[in-house]
Amino acid sequence: MNASPADQRRLVEVAELDARIRKADHARKNPPQAARVQELLTHRQALSQELTTRLGARDDLRIELSRIESDVAVVDARSARDAERLASSSNSKEAQGLESEIASLNRRKSDLEDAELEVMERLEQADAAVAEQEALIAETNAQGAELSAEAKRVVAEQTAAFDAASRDRAAVAGTVPADLLALYDKLAARSAGAALLRARTCEGCRMVLSGTDLNALRQAAEDAVVTCPECGAILVRTDESGL
Ligand SMILES: [Zn+2]
Repeated sequence: MNASPADQRRLVEVAELDARIRKADHARKNPPQAARVQELLTHRQALSQELTTRLGARDDLRIELSRIESDVAVVDARSARDAERLASSSNSKEAQGLESEIASLNRRKSDLEDAELEVMERLEQADAAVAEQEALIAETNAQGAELSAEAKRVVAEQTAAFDAASRDRAAVAGTVPADLLALYDKLAARSAGAALLRARTCEGCRMVLSGTDLNALRQAAEDAVVTCPECGAILVRTDESGL
């Protein structure tokens, strides 16, 4: 195939724009924050599980406390009833029995109050443990929200870069003869597509060309379309090619 050196050089521009388009496309699909956001989601899941455990422990203590409180209420009612009966009793044996029961109820109440205090202390600790876990989750959520916002900014930036490079690519490609562009597109599927030959080096694959290959290039007509023997990209010759 033959093409003017100017058209060939425009192919290098197309190749550079294609590289920018690929880079922007990759960057917008893989914002650097994505992995950390995923980590935070996993972390938050573990934190939420622990919160469920701590909430369960606190609920158990609340149930235990209300059971003790209702036991105290039962003891109080029974004591009050015994005291009333004692006040109106004229039977000394019955009075003795009531006094002994009141004494035993008082001991029971004292035990219940000790237990109540202990449970209240544990409940206070459980409240603190829940609050601590909720704070950790809130902090993780805030971090996640911040990272997601950053990721969105990156995606928006890279999408803008992608769109701009795509528009430029269409403009430059529109000036390249169709058959040359078709060849470029075909070669670009497995190489840079087109690259400058600078100082005997293909800028597509960075290979320094050997003497035989350089000789072949020297003999090729100026408007001949030649390719890199190493990577297959269209090799665009300039004054700096070192031929
Ligand atoms: Zn090459």
